[in-house]
Formats: sequence, C-alpha cells, structure tokens
Amino acid sequence: MTEVEQKEAFERGASAAKTALDGATRPLMIQDECGLNETQNAESMGWNSICASDENQALWKKEHERIAQNRKYFEDGCLCLQEGLIEKKGSDISNISAVIYYESACKCSRNYKQQ
Ligand SMILES: [Zn+2]
Repeated sequence: MTEVEQKEAFERGASAAKTALDGATRPLMIQDECGLNETQNAESMGWNSICASDENQALWKKEHERIAQNRKYFEDGCLCLQEGLIEKKGSDISNISAVIYYESACKCSRNYKQQ
C-alpha cells in the first residue's frame, strides 16, 4: 500500500465518521485498527481520529449520564427487582452491564424496550 493510498483511506474513514457524527445523538464507537487489511486499518484510523474529537467526547459524556439514569430508573421502580424476580446488580457491575441486564430481564411495565 502506498503512502498516498494510505492517506486516502484515512481521509475516507475520517469523512465517514464526520458524516456519522453530524446530528448524531449517540457517540461514535472506536473501530478496530488491526482489521482484515491495510486499507481497512487506515480507514479505521481516520474514523478514530474523529472519535477522539471534543464533539464525540461530549456525546460520550451524555451517553454515560443517560446510562446511569437508566440504571437508576430500573433500580428505583422496577417491580421485578422489588419482588426479587430478577437480580439487583451490585456496585461492582458497570452501569452499562446492569442496564443491558435489566433491559433484557425486566418484564414489568418499567421496561421501555418490550412495549
Ligand atoms: Zn421490571
């Protein structure tokens, strides 16, 4: 792969990430830079350069706050939890893991996923 090709692939990745970030409400996820081939790796590096931007970091901050709120929402009002039908996740479990579990396990009206 030439340097020019590498630069072009990087720019393609960065451009795709900018498009995805435009008007996004959820943050962009980092892409694997050790993928199938050099072209893809260079595109991922371009994409990741945008992931590191202040704009995307601000979206991550919001996302973490949203997840923490969702956990509290379940733990404050889920009947399945209160009746011991599902397990209450402890503080050693990350907010995202707890929320994923509650979203899949909760069967009461609290679950915004299954309605
Ligand atoms: Zn529930």
